[in-house]
Amino acid sequence: MAQIDTLPPLREVIATHGLNAKKSLGQNFLLDLNLTSRIARSAGNLEDCTVLEIGPGPGGLTRALLAAGAKKVVAIEKDTRCLPALAEISDHYPGRLEVIEGDALDIDPVAVTGGDKVRIAANLPYNVGTQLLINWITIPQWPPFWLSLTLMFQKEVGERIAAQPGSKAYGRLGVLAGWRCKGGILFDISPKAFTPPPKVTSAVVHLTPNASPLPCDLKALERVTAAAFGQRRKMLRASLKSLSPDAETLICEAGLKPTARAEEIDIAGFVALANAFNSVHPD
Ligand code: SAM
Repeated sequence: MAQIDTLPPLREVIATHGLNAKKSLGQNFLLDLNLTSRIARSAGNLEDCTVLEIGPGPGGLTRALLAAGAKKVVAIEKDTRCLPALAEISDHYPGRLEVIEGDALDIDPVAVTGGDKVRIAANLPYNVGTQLLINWITIPQWPPFWLSLTLMFQKEVGERIAAQPGSKAYGRLGVLAGWRCKGGILFDISPKAFTPPPKVTSAVVHLTPNASPLPCDLKALERVTAAAFGQRRKMLRASLKSLSPDAETLICEAGLKPTARAEEIDIAGFVALANAFNSVHPD
């Protein structure tokens, strides 16, 4: 792809600012402009909202988001070495890029995006990516502050997010994501596209909020899925015993077979189970 802006090429930015990748920060930089632009386009219409990006690094995806017309990008980066490179992008797009130095796990995403409509787009650091996703999809207020999540994960994590009942990848993450969101994997990205290349293939996941998820207490759903998938080979009547002595009755009340295993239960089934448990064991 031809240049998307007149800033220096990313390899040059990395060399100029000495941004040798640190494994401890999950740094695998995406330098392919076709791919950064494809991710930015996948995030939807960016012109009337703030894009929250986690881990801009040298700014490849940041530049693609801005070139795609994002009204504003708020980018949270933990590695202070990246800040001078990001400041150059800020200068190039006056008033459209705000960089916040810090750990995304400690920063309130609503406060930093100023109450605007938000789309979240990121090539997530692998070590905190799943936790960030869980934070965004388990916030109490629903529909949430974000309109969409366009996120890169290790493919195996992407498959767990998008997993359907009956599949090996189906588990707590799939139930949680499927309960509150719609969407799935858009495309894979080969390790070769990154500098340095990671050991595994990555996948870009796109999720939008399910406007009216089945009514359910989040904590109860988390407890029930943790117990059920914690012993996924066991039948529900055994795996849920630790939660309640009357597990078998509650499983029946939820309209499920006590002999079923966790991976056979769809999202509506887990919601029914969580509601049955919550009615006798509220938090
Ligand atoms: N967005 C860049 C790209 O696509 O090339 C870099 C992606 S790299 C996989 C992950 C980035 O997240 C790195 O820049 C890393 O320094 C940053 N990072 C790691 N942990 C972080 C955290 N807890 N909070 C914010 N940024 C973090």
